[in-house]
Amino acid sequence: MPNKFQQPSQAMLEAADFICKGGIGGIPTETVYGLAANALNPSAVRKIFEAKGRPFIDPLIVHVCDMDMAESIAYFDADAKKLADKFWPGPLTMILKRRECISDIVTAGLDTVAVRMPAHPITSQLIRTTKLPLAAPSANPFGYVSPTTAAHVREQLGGKIDFVLDGGECKCGVESTIVMMTSSPKKLLRPGPIPPDAIEKALGEAIDRSPKKNEAHPEAPGMLKSHYAPKSRLILFDDPAEIPPDFEGEIIYQKRPDSPKKRDYWLSENGGQEECAHNLFKLIRALDKNSKFGFYCQRASNSGIGLAINDRLSRAETKLK
Ligand code: AMP
Ligand code: MG
Repeated sequence: MPNKFQQPSQAMLEAADFICKGGIGGIPTETVYGLAANALNPSAVRKIFEAKGRPFIDPLIVHVCDMDMAESIAYFDADAKKLADKFWPGPLTMILKRRECISDIVTAGLDTVAVRMPAHPITSQLIRTTKLPLAAPSANPFGYVSPTTAAHVREQLGGKIDFVLDGGECKCGVESTIVMMTSSPKKLLRPGPIPPDAIEKALGEAIDRSPKKNEAHPEAPGMLKSHYAPKSRLILFDDPAEIPPDFEGEIIYQKRPDSPKKRDYWLSENGGQEECAHNLFKLIRALDKNSKFGFYCQRASNSGIGLAINDRLSRAETKLK
């Protein structure tokens, strides 16, 4: 992987060239793979929505490589600077007042913009090479499980995009924590790898951890009730006793069961939450390919990154009418 001082590879130069000319492509981040375009070029950004089938009412996160670039697209007050200082580069997205250069197509017409400085060296290098902020949602068809490998991106979007930069498996495996910085109190719009406790500690104030959701006009449209969903039927459980004894599909546990049966899978050996998050989408995708009877998945404990796991699972769960 490149570090700050390494020469860009051929693949990197080609990707940078595509971005500068208004193309789109897959980029690795520490959360999930993104589908990137020049955030300052509305017709390039439009291609992202078209490739994903994403509705234009769903605003994008803009990725930057340093504070100068961040401040060129959004206004940072003292609190935003505090969080940037503490958590960037890293899996925190802040909703801030936007500057003029960011167009309506990126923000769905809102006067705020979502900003993040990702920690993956390949994507940092791409942003430094192009000198452009990159608008990038997750690189999957809208509504499906997010991609955590370059192969996931190629499988689903391969024919529709200009490049995929392969940066290996995403470390976190779930999308960034999103905090709205422009409201009072500040709001947790999406739980992610950085838990609310850490944000409150850094800010020295409480945030609204479960802001009221309004499905008709959600403040964060990615927070729709149904999202991240596999094609197969997915049912959640806490206690294995909830699973019908005659169920023939696959069962996903948070940690390895004492005596695993044939169709048992687990997200971690010991129940380590980081490992569970890292493996969550990868395992769901793999099972979704061949599952005949659908699968059950155990909820995580409701703390730390477990909040993000449960948030994604509850929206991936098959809604029984
Ligand atoms: P994704 O890129 O798919 O991880 O989704 C990004 C999510 O960030 C969107 O679905 C929204 O929920 C949220 N978001 C982006 N921009 C804004 C904004 N200006 N205000 C509120 N939420 C936003
Ligand atoms: Mg997404």
